[in-house]
Amino acid sequence: MQKAHDLKEYREEVGQALDNEFLRKAMDNFARAYPQGRAKAFAGMDAAALIAEIAEAKDESVSHMEELYQEFKKNAEAAGVKVHRARTAAEANEIIADIAREENCKNIVKSKSMTAEETLLNHHLEAEGLQVTETDLGEWIIQLRHEGPTHMVMPAIHLSRDQVAGLFSQVTGSNQPNEVEKLVKVARRELRQRYVDADMGISGANFCLADSGAIGLVTNEGNARLVTTLPRVHVALAGLEKLTPSLHDALRVLKALPRNATGQAITSYVTWIKGQSECKAAEDNKKSYHIVFLDNGRTAMSKDPLFKEVLRCIRCGACANVCPVYRMVGGHQYGHIYIGAIGLILTYFFHGRDKAKNLVKNCINCQACKAVCAAGIDLPRMIKEVLARIQDEEGHELESRLLSKAMSNRRFFHGLLRSARYAQKMFGTKTSADHKGKYQRHLPMLLSKEHGFREIPKLADTPFRDKFPKLREKVEHPRYVVGLFGGCAEDFLYPEHLESGMETFKGQRVDVRYPMSQTCCGLPLMMMGETTTERDVAKQNIRAFDPAELDYIICHCPSCASHLKGYPNLFKNDPEWHLLAQRFADKVIDYSSFVQEELEMGKEHFEQGGPRAAYHSPCHLCRGMGVHEAPRKLLGTGGYDYVEMKEEEVCCGFGGTYSVKFPRISSQILKTKLDHIEESGADLLVTDCPGCVMQIRGGLDKRGSKVKVRHMSEALAERKKPGGGHP
Ligand code: SF4
Ligand code: SF4
Repeated sequence: MQKAHDLKEYREEVGQALDNEFLRKAMDNFARAYPQGRAKAFAGMDAAALIAEIAEAKDESVSHMEELYQEFKKNAEAAGVKVHRARTAAEANEIIADIAREENCKNIVKSKSMTAEETLLNHHLEAEGLQVTETDLGEWIIQLRHEGPTHMVMPAIHLSRDQVAGLFSQVTGSNQPNEVEKLVKVARRELRQRYVDADMGISGANFCLADSGAIGLVTNEGNARLVTTLPRVHVALAGLEKLTPSLHDALRVLKALPRNATGQAITSYVTWIKGQSECKAAEDNKKSYHIVFLDNGRTAMSKDPLFKEVLRCIRCGACANVCPVYRMVGGHQYGHIYIGAIGLILTYFFHGRDKAKNLVKNCINCQACKAVCAAGIDLPRMIKEVLARIQDEEGHELESRLLSKAMSNRRFFHGLLRSARYAQKMFGTKTSADHKGKYQRHLPMLLSKEHGFREIPKLADTPFRDKFPKLREKVEHPRYVVGLFGGCAEDFLYPEHLESGMETFKGQRVDVRYPMSQTCCGLPLMMMGETTTERDVAKQNIRAFDPAELDYIICHCPSCASHLKGYPNLFKNDPEWHLLAQRFADKVIDYSSFVQEELEMGKEHFEQGGPRAAYHSPCHLCRGMGVHEAPRKLLGTGGYDYVEMKEEEVCCGFGGTYSVKFPRISSQILKTKLDHIEESGADLLVTDCPGCVMQIRGGLDKRGSKVKVRHMSEALAERKKPGGGHP
């Protein structure tokens, strides 16, 4: 749970999590195993198509939530169920406490329910003098430890067998071994009598079927069946978004839920409950059955054009499973009640700004959550939108306001970068081991302490835009007329990447333009929640390039490319600019795809027999742009001996301003990446992103590693044969 009052306190809590060796190891093991399990579970299926169907069906349900509720109520009540509706979390808790009072219940057993976690139901019932026992193994463990879940599906994933054995030894008063099977037996023995003694069972619901009034429960331990059948009273608590038209829609979700959550084709138990059932423990032989629907802001959300998408979530937890930040710090620091990417968003809506304001800054924007989301939610974008809302409500931070002001005026912004070139002289210069990088010898005070995990590059003496007029070739009968989008990092820090790109285009009849009025793509502004200026700079770039004259707009930075591709999303409410943004975005392509798929250069253009090269796939290239094969093929074409390394598509920890805000997390993510690079045995690491070059080269250099780092354009230019042009 979030207790930090400000970013400083939050960073300290995150620091403690980073210092927890066991937690780090447990999360790391899980993060490595999960992708294979998921891939295996979806093997032979069109996962993308299934996710798209789920997204569409959930959107439809969310836009008819009220009608579905009325239909469900009518059908459930006809089957003897009492249906309640709570506007707030407190109201839901009170309704359930009232049921307990009216039904004279004292002992409650509960199966897993994130909605009950959301309302802090246990605290409320315990304060009313009721005894509540969690019966899901993980939930029982964290209940005994008086803490919240660290994962939505696996709530005790942060604990070791030894910790659980210690806990169970205290509970039972005798020493318990640290063997999983024996510990499960202890839990079974301790919990069995609680089911028998319970007067009330509380469950959640994965599905509420409007056309029948039935609910569906998806579990692995069988405890939910005991909870919902043995006690004489059953209360199911469900968020309104669980309403779905029919079993058909629920089964579609069921195809993805366990596969995405735990890599299982199906869970051990799927339980459907319709209407009142017979119950020997009840006086009239009939179970008293209640369903409480929780609103808590869901109706308002369903009407919000942007955030209604969030209600698609099926609570599979996969967005945490793949998150590099969650992998480092675990759920207690990466959520409040709800965990992971969706947790960052829901915390704002369900638990308020104060709990969410630090969390939403801790997203590196790697897009991994979006890529696995079972409901196709654009989670990174939503997280940034929440950040922007919080900034608008609380006032924008000074650094964010300054950045926004500077970037809104291109001439001023570029003027600043040019002057910074002189200012940096006072920090001295050192050169990277491979003579490709120029670093600050001393870090500015602001960056001196926690940023020492890598070298910080210097701004180039001459930006690319000043060199371009001399580099431009006159091309007769061009095959392609392209606009180069530089981006701040390529233009001012690494002009050599763009120059190398020009070198590879030589002889290929590519007519290159570099519109001088182009400016920052706007991604740093999005990261800071400065959406107004983000839209302003987008308009400047759209004006700078004329898509009618260009075949492509080429980016050497995939973060820029994927942000430019997303420009139409910035103008959803402005049809005129939306159209212009779409025309612009349609022309955007990354450097590697252009060379591989359009220029189709062959091995004959490059010296063969080059060194062993590993490839780091930038987040915004593989997930943002969906490009996987082109760069790896290019390495082979370019004469390199491509060696595969572990987790090529996992983030390197850069994330632009993220690495300045959360340097300790950035450094830990980088450490794993550098280990993988060195283990691969490669002499060279090639990537497509200037940010990744900065992070990885700076990290390797700091380690004293011999592995060199190159942008793909440099790697190709270094092995390109002179001549050999396209006819
Ligand atoms: S974008 Fe990356 S860092 Fe941010 S929540 Fe998603 S997975 Fe985590
Ligand atoms: S946001 Fe997507 S990935 Fe995350 S829990 Fe919900 S459905 Fe699963």
